[in-house]
Amino acid sequence: MTDTNHSLFARGQRVIPGGVNSPVRAFRSVGGTPYFVARGEGARVTDVEGRTFIDLVQSYGAVIAGHAHPRLVEAIRAAAADGTSFGAPTPREVLLAEAIAERVPSCEKVRMVNSGTEATMSVIRVARGATGRSRILKFAGNYHGHSDGLLVAGGTAMASLGIPASAGVTPSAVADTVVAPYNVVPRLTESFAAVIVEPIAANMGLVAPQPGFLEGLRAECDRVGALLIFDEVITGFRVARGGAQELFGVRPDLTAFGKIIGGGLPVGAFGGRAELMDELAPLGPVYQAGTLSGNPLATAAGLAVLDLLDDDAYALLSSRAARLAASFESAFSSAGLTALVPRVATLTGLFFGDPAPVDYESACATDEATYAAFFHALLDEGVAIAPGAYEVMFCGLAHDDDVILAIDAAAHSAAAVVANSSGA
Ligand SMILES: *Cc1c(COP(=O)(O)O)cnc(C)c1O
Repeated sequence: MTDTNHSLFARGQRVIPGGVNSPVRAFRSVGGTPYFVARGEGARVTDVEGRTFIDLVQSYGAVIAGHAHPRLVEAIRAAAADGTSFGAPTPREVLLAEAIAERVPSCEKVRMVNSGTEATMSVIRVARGATGRSRILKFAGNYHGHSDGLLVAGGTAMASLGIPASAGVTPSAVADTVVAPYNVVPRLTESFAAVIVEPIAANMGLVAPQPGFLEGLRAECDRVGALLIFDEVITGFRVARGGAQELFGVRPDLTAFGKIIGGGLPVGAFGGRAELMDELAPLGPVYQAGTLSGNPLATAAGLAVLDLLDDDAYALLSSRAARLAASFESAFSSAGLTALVPRVATLTGLFFGDPAPVDYESACATDEATYAAFFHALLDEGVAIAPGAYEVMFCGLAHDDDVILAIDAAAHSAAAVVANSSGA
């Protein structure tokens, strides 16, 4: 008997909690059975039942060149043939650190890790070690991975599953974490080691920084001697060659990366001013390590993807995101659905409500039931968006004109289906 999505999900649920290795994949907030991907190519994925979808999930932003891009496949294949991990430095670690530092000038030095979670966790440790201070400030609805001290008001699946704070995180682990509303410059004191922010919030739907917000954070951090950390795990190498810090012209002290720089392999990185990064062992007293960090396959994939992303690529990605947003907007307005399609550079969001959200509270006003209905209607039309209302849509190099036209048609049909069934 061949596998179906149903049979695999049933088997998975017996041996994997919820049948998934990351909560949002389980379809809990949209209902139904997840599709199990058998393979992907370019803008499309094919499930185990042979159905093909245009994919706007793109591994939640880890993939930008499209699935199984030939240059990435070849780079990974060649790297694998030379051995997968050594516990000694390898040449591509130097090349990737140089490539990151060249694109993001605030990162004079870079260290590789294995996920975005590790990057934000480690960068906070550097900030605390360098300042000798304990408290950090994060913004509600910003997600910085799942390390204990950052797992409060985290947006993404925490929002769609209604989990305000995680069980298993002790009060002492978050005692030094202060949560503030996004888009309001907080008043700091000299007890703060750092402020960590998603420079474009992309885990509570898509919420742009209001004019002056990031500049205000820079000034307030400088006033009290706290460090400014940009979490560019999504925005890095996606919204511009130099990330959100280039787009908005605000220079953070430290930056966390992930997703894109692994080309779909497990990777994170963090970087910043040399004297801060030199706090790390073996030079300094801040300990941080990793058996697989700087992995030969991941660095090969990362270098191959950065190589594809020149200024022309970002101009192309921005124009595609604009067309994608226009398509969804026109679909919603012709169907008479109340929905907004926020866009910042190459990122596009979906918000079922009005007015546009500016922070977590307003972002949580999205109509999740309509999102779920639209998700399924769109999937029926052959287009996959994330199975959670607080994610964004990821358009990549493979989403060419034909793909965008197909999405446009699917969005119009799906919006009409949702409008008819809700009697709008
Ligand atoms: C995805 C994400 C993370 C966590 O990265 P993982 O690789 O999933 O651990 C951190 N910060 C932001 C902004 C993210 O979107």
